[in-house]
Amino acid sequence: MDERITLAHGAGGKQTSDLIRGLFKRYFDNQFLTADDAAVLPSPKGKMAMTTDGFIVSPWDFPGGNVGRLSVCGTVNDLACMGAKPLYLTCSFVIEEGFPIKSLDRIARSLAETAQEAGVSIVAGDTKVAGRGQVDGIFITTTGVGEIVPETKLSGSQARPGDAVIVTGDIGRHGCAILLSRDEYGIEADVTSDDAPLWGTVRSMLDVTTDLHVIRDATRGGVGTVLYEIAEESGVGICLNQADIPVDPAVSGVCGMLGLEPLYLACEGRLVVFAPKEHADALLEVLRRGRYSQNAAVIGEVRQTLPGRVCLKTRIGTETLLPPPGGELLPRIC
Ligand code: MG
Repeated sequence: MDERITLAHGAGGKQTSDLIRGLFKRYFDNQFLTADDAAVLPSPKGKMAMTTDGFIVSPWDFPGGNVGRLSVCGTVNDLACMGAKPLYLTCSFVIEEGFPIKSLDRIARSLAETAQEAGVSIVAGDTKVAGRGQVDGIFITTTGVGEIVPETKLSGSQARPGDAVIVTGDIGRHGCAILLSRDEYGIEADVTSDDAPLWGTVRSMLDVTTDLHVIRDATRGGVGTVLYEIAEESGVGICLNQADIPVDPAVSGVCGMLGLEPLYLACEGRLVVFAPKEHADALLEVLRRGRYSQNAAVIGEVRQTLPGRVCLKTRIGTETLLPPPGGELLPRIC
């Protein structure tokens, strides 16, 4: 096989079919993926969730993951946030002419391994090649379909006064890992992305109670942005205890040096959960046994006062307003 992607790989002829057979088919093989024009699938029994997302992260390879793993996690996590078990995924690649086939192989392998971990089948795909400079390396778009667990009615508008606010792990690792891997700041720190497929995490919480109000993955804009979204959508106030927010020491070190707020750094494997306070202990117990949620913590609560605002109780006991999210901190983090 050629060592680099050429325009011919996207032209639909022999090179395209060599690439599909020799690389994608090898990793993505499953009963639903055929050479036909569309996948034929059994329908889920109840309600379905469907979502799509594009992944243009730069660099495509970073500590703790790569664009392949990310493009599965991002989409299955959006399904999971709606209480949906991910079932099917489609996957569309736009690759820059000259991209190394070895790198594409690694990306496809990660994508397949993560799909397997997430319990989702890649049922259809597409490959296009754009000329040099027309895209940067590789862009991937995935679309996912999931089956919603009956009795769940999760939505960003469901937060209620008295809810506990839970994060499922330490925050800000993905944004920090991307920032460091761009090498623009000359900082050396051992930070890996938290990117992970989280259906198992959501399932374990639903086994405790289906009375969860909101689940949202804290991707672009981080936990702080999600909290402002929920405060707005639900018309409630949120109060956080700064001392309870889990942040890896390396991440807070980097944030300290660069004057960044970890609450606004992206995560790719963390959920923000709003649930009635009486379930908080049981949820934390099950989360702390989970593979991707060992550092889960209650970080605050929902209040009736100051709707649309997020307050922060600082370590010295004062209460301040968390500054509302600003513009995009870092472009192309996912
Ligand atoms: Mg999301």
